[in-house]
Amino acid sequence: MRTDAEVAGLSPWRDGIVPLIHCHLCNALFDLPAPCPVCGHVYDLRPQTIRDGATTFEVQPAFNGALHWSAHVLLHQMKLEVGRPLGLDSQFVGGPSQRLVVVILFWSLFESLMDRFYQAALADLPGTLPEELLSRFSSIGSRLDRLHRARWGVTFWQDFAELGYAEAADYLRIVQDRRNRFIHGDPRAIDDELVEATMANLLSVQLGWIALFNRRCTGMNKKVKLWED
Ligand SMILES: [Zn+2]
Repeated sequence: MRTDAEVAGLSPWRDGIVPLIHCHLCNALFDLPAPCPVCGHVYDLRPQTIRDGATTFEVQPAFNGALHWSAHVLLHQMKLEVGRPLGLDSQFVGGPSQRLVVVILFWSLFESLMDRFYQAALADLPGTLPEELLSRFSSIGSRLDRLHRARWGVTFWQDFAELGYAEAADYLRIVQDRRNRFIHGDPRAIDDELVEATMANLLSVQLGWIALFNRRCTGMNKKVKLWED
């Protein structure tokens, strides 16, 4: 079954986090040539003319992509794994999905994105408070629940749902639980159905994360860039 995004011609490989840049004024994430969705800034995309003596050069504008290289690698690896032919290995009969690595890669990508989100969102807190909070709430589960609620009065799941991504929030709860069960000795927790749900929600999770970043990480004094270490 095709997802709404596929019907609309959108792809999780090119319409989510991949084409993003940071607005240099408010730090929002967006895709050119649209104006910044938070502050409305419009970038001049016309080529610049540079003269060197009698020679004239036309230089196209260039922008640094917003994401850390790891995010690109994880997303690309997911795409490779989704397209990989299935084998005949008998351990997968009635067991875990042959494509279970798709879910493992997805959760790594999500944790990586949320790690950068909290670093950016807490950056304006005084002194060493950001580092202390991230150290105290070091697990992804505690950040999505208690840290998020302590900072904004709602959990991550509520925040995500309020932005219009309730279905993706429900999916993320499921995959978090299944991934934990997989790690703790139940490989069948990652079955074909969960792999299909991962692909069906992949673009929505990315779009929801962008909306969340633009809601919580913009208009601040310290503008943490996603590509920074
Ligand atoms: Zn902006």
